[in-house]
Amino acid sequence: MSIVTSEPVPRPGILDIAAYVPGKEHAPGVARVFKLSSNETPLGASPKAIDAFKQAAGNLELYPDGQAMALREAIASVHGLNVANIMCGNGSDELLGLLCHVYLGTGDEAIITEHGFLVYKIQIMGAGATVVEVKEKDRTVDVDAILAAVTDKTKMVFIANPGNPTGTYVPVADIRRLHAGLPKSVILVLDAAYAEYVRKNDYEAGLELVSSNRNVVMTRTFSKVYGLAALRIGWMYGPAGILDALNRVRGPFNMNAPAIAAGAAAIRDQAFVEKAVEHNNLWQGKLTHALETIGLKVTPSVANFVLIHFPDVDGKRAPEADAFLTSRGYILRAVRGYGFPNALRMTIGSEEANRGVIETLGEFMGKSA
Ligand SMILES: *Cc1c(COP(=O)(O)O)cnc(C)c1O
Repeated sequence: MSIVTSEPVPRPGILDIAAYVPGKEHAPGVARVFKLSSNETPLGASPKAIDAFKQAAGNLELYPDGQAMALREAIASVHGLNVANIMCGNGSDELLGLLCHVYLGTGDEAIITEHGFLVYKIQIMGAGATVVEVKEKDRTVDVDAILAAVTDKTKMVFIANPGNPTGTYVPVADIRRLHAGLPKSVILVLDAAYAEYVRKNDYEAGLELVSSNRNVVMTRTFSKVYGLAALRIGWMYGPAGILDALNRVRGPFNMNAPAIAAGAAAIRDQAFVEKAVEHNNLWQGKLTHALETIGLKVTPSVANFVLIHFPDVDGKRAPEADAFLTSRGYILRAVRGYGFPNALRMTIGSEEANRGVIETLGEFMGKSA
């Protein structure tokens, strides 16, 4: 017998989810706006990707290739991987969602970290499972805290490496230690959305760990360094067993044709990626130095954004800085929802945007860089 209600009712827990709030886009009344709130690249997309996108416009009546083969082959060739272990998604967000819906259910636990990406929490709850949140240490994922939180109900562990919004990273030795300490039945999800930006000898995105295990996946995106956020392209490198399970429930045409074409062209243009990374890493250093000179604290970042901490002083806190910056057309990201009520995350932008933020924050702090 079913209970009669006056309207459709979602599964238990769904209405407890706080919907994702994207970065702000508008600064009302300001003529020139610099959007530095969503970690988009200031360099745009590769001209080759844009050409491929335009070409795809000639055949919009045709269904796309449900296997996204052209894109998967391009990814496989550039990264030296087996095409069968690559799955593409409508943004890595879709892949994270599929993992949760396939591997989690009521009563299961999934571990995330204190300042972790909010999409994990949303998808875990969406699958009806329980979120277990562990502390970070110095704004960095704490492998021991994760291992201590594992129970016999744990099914998945999510970490972004580098982290968002912290920009910190976990060295490969610690990732290996984390994996070694997890039961073989637990999936370790390594979200490497910012991997291309990292230039550290002790960093690895996770390819090796995926190759040699059956319970690790790595997700990547074309939304950041490739400048294709509008097209929604993510990919996952994972073991055959996990890909087979996910392929049974993914939408048969989850990747659209212009995205497949543009993504394939973009990843083959590594010279363009190199330029974007060079610009980023030059400005990451300059910005950090300048912001520290005007009295702000910056968490050391290896990604394309910096987390800026404001003084705990009346009128100088993050919300006031946010309002001041917005009034001048500089849109940063408030990160209260990530456990940083007194910080703002700034995407590293064009030279003009970066200099503008430095000058504006100098004025805000009453000090110049
Ligand atoms: C931006 C970002 C992604 C990318 O998501 P897409 O759906 O591919 O655009 C994934 N993980 C983290 C941590 C991010 O910051």
